Amino acid sequence: MNYHSMSADQLRETQSDLRKLYDALCAAGLQLDLTRGKPAPEQLDLSNALLSLPGDDYRDSAGTDTRNYGGIVGLPEIRQIFGELLAVDPANLIAFGNSSLELMHDLTVFALLSGTVDSAKPWNADPIKFLCPAPGYDRHFSITETYGIEMIPVPMLPTGPDVDACAALTAKDPSIKGMWAVPTYSNPTGVTFTEEVTRGLLEMPAADDFRIYWDNAYAVHTLVDEAPTPLPVLEMAAAAGNPNRVFVLGSTSKITFAGAGVSFFGSSTENLDWFKRHLSFKTIGPDKINQLRHVKFFGDADGVRAHMAKHREILAPKFRLVLDILDDRLGDSKVAAWSQPEGGYFISLDVIDGTARRVIELAKEAGIALTAAGSTYPYKNDPLDRNIRLAPTFPTTDDLRTAMDGVATCVLLAASETLLGSRES
Ligand code: PMP
Repeated sequence: MNYHSMSADQLRETQSDLRKLYDALCAAGLQLDLTRGKPAPEQLDLSNALLSLPGDDYRDSAGTDTRNYGGIVGLPEIRQIFGELLAVDPANLIAFGNSSLELMHDLTVFALLSGTVDSAKPWNADPIKFLCPAPGYDRHFSITETYGIEMIPVPMLPTGPDVDACAALTAKDPSIKGMWAVPTYSNPTGVTFTEEVTRGLLEMPAADDFRIYWDNAYAVHTLVDEAPTPLPVLEMAAAAGNPNRVFVLGSTSKITFAGAGVSFFGSSTENLDWFKRHLSFKTIGPDKINQLRHVKFFGDADGVRAHMAKHREILAPKFRLVLDILDDRLGDSKVAAWSQPEGGYFISLDVIDGTARRVIELAKEAGIALTAAGSTYPYKNDPLDRNIRLAPTFPTTDDLRTAMDGVATCVLLAASETLLGSRES
């Protein structure tokens, strides 16, 4: 029944039933974790052949000895494969270490210390600001927060970030130097940016040294038959007259091994030269053996797509399970709304305003760890205290079922408390 149309007595009765359910949940001594978007062990197993690659054959097709120093831009073959998947010309794509987050961190630090190719050196504003579509990815926000960059939340719409809101800000404020963006199956909303939104972000007036971190972490992570076609953002940015605006990022973290994959950075030639210059002070080159191992494992871009279909077989039933439980337990109550993602790693759950923190607390007391309250917003400040990021990939199906059923009980209990409180006050 719709909780909003319940009388105070009905709410009281419902709450007392939920209390019993919740007490039983607490008594079960659970230890379950829905916090981080990690691949499950059986997903990692899909890539175990990597552990015995590249074998004795340590040269790439150009004859480069991958065991040795050098090759700061990475192996041509891996750049070819991921250039196709990220819609970036391989000549404008670097293959690097195991983490795209590291690249995003370094890009930020290099720009802060030395400025970009379009900056008066260094990134020069007090304070420097970034646009942060929210809900968004907490580790993005941690980078900007750590370096004292002011984060301005902008609304995330079903089509991508609110371009009008972004443009209104960047047009009048040259201290906005950057923007976080996850264009495909966004973390946590699952939203894929439309071409119109993309074009809007590339064309909007902004400072010359404004950069969009186009973090395409989930470019090939589809749960449905029709995967979105990646847009050639670098070409589109150049056509819009802003050739240096975009930093394209990606990695194989959720394709092969999350801790031992290959990361990618694509940008204009000018930006790449700038980045390589700075990079060359911190490393003589990336782990090319790991890159070669990935080349041999995949063969080509279709090899990656075929591999992702195996991930989908493991992940689609887990997402289905979570969505079914949410429907079944919360559908009638009208106290929550959630995303129906077609890919990526998360389900975004919105509960009644002012109750997300309480839900997370209740779940914690029952032994179910949820991503910390507010995490999906800059400064961990969810102004309406409503968003919870669910990560269904890592737990076993049984654990996921128990955890989600428990979460649903917590959502209903918190909602009944709040609604009853507002009736009684
Ligand atoms: N970007 C997004 C949007 C992510 O969700 C994640 C992983 N949760 C990362 C980057 C991290 O990528 P990497 O492992 O390549 O550092």
